[in-house]
Amino acid sequence: MPPSLPSLRDRIRAQLADLKMPGSLEALDDILRQADSGALAAGPAIEQVLGAHIALRNARRLETARRASRLPALKTLADFDYSFQPSVRREQIESLHTLSFIERKENVVFLGPPGVGKTHLALSLAVAAVTGGRRVYYTTLAELVTSLEEAQAQGRLAHRLRTLVFPSLMLVDEIGYLPLSRTGAMLFFQLMSRRYEVASTILTSNKGFDEWGEVFGDDVMAAALIDRLVHHCHIVNIRGNSYRMKHHAELHAALHPRDHERESDRPAKSKTSRREVAAR
Ligand code: ADP
Ligand code: MG
Repeated sequence: MPPSLPSLRDRIRAQLADLKMPGSLEALDDILRQADSGALAAGPAIEQVLGAHIALRNARRLETARRASRLPALKTLADFDYSFQPSVRREQIESLHTLSFIERKENVVFLGPPGVGKTHLALSLAVAAVTGGRRVYYTTLAELVTSLEEAQAQGRLAHRLRTLVFPSLMLVDEIGYLPLSRTGAMLFFQLMSRRYEVASTILTSNKGFDEWGEVFGDDVMAAALIDRLVHHCHIVNIRGNSYRMKHHAELHAALHPRDHERESDRPAKSKTSRREVAAR
């Protein structure tokens, strides 16, 4: 018997393999099955084959860029529940996601207590920027300052600062969890002065601006830093409950329904600052 000729399907498979189109190769059988059964016309079938390639390529690009940017997670706006956080203005967040603030070299500061979604929203902006092909760099303030201190000790500070001015979007997370040393604060101030009006920075903090003097160990430097930051800046102030505690609250409500019945009738508890607690 003569060797059988490769089928049309096999020839297309070989072409897709030759062109290094694994996404299309993976989707091919399903698309051909639909085409054979008449559920899919030729035009849409071709579109789907090419679309499968583009989808996989984009996902891989995003993953590579995510690793290069050191984003700890791929948070998106689609996963953000506005109804849980009424103090967040949807129009403001959506307008930020057009990324025109990066074009204008403006900054974004997310302020609010722990768990209210500051990092989530900051990361979703970073993901949008990475998807749009921007160079992004994520760091916590503590990591950033450590890396600047190390560079200074090795006589490479100028080089390190140049590298950190380069990304068109830098995300400095967790300002306020740990107080900085004087040198650390000076180094951060230097970096932010370099990036001022050159590239955008997103910052998140659980401390209001009035408490940054304590975080940076120096009121004058904190004031100078805030002055540069807020000159071209979008401030997102989130007042609300921790999303991390959401499920605990739901659990508590289910177990103790009477505690939650007349919540709205009770006077609001006055906020107690950490300092007041410490002073007790
Ligand atoms: P913060 O940085 O303000 O301390 P995060 O952004 O880390 O808080 O939020 C804590 C967790 O809760 C994260 O997993 C985040 O994705 C999730 N989260 C916070 N707020 C929301 C929200 N409104 N909708 C959906 N998920 C949220
Ligand atoms: Mg956070």
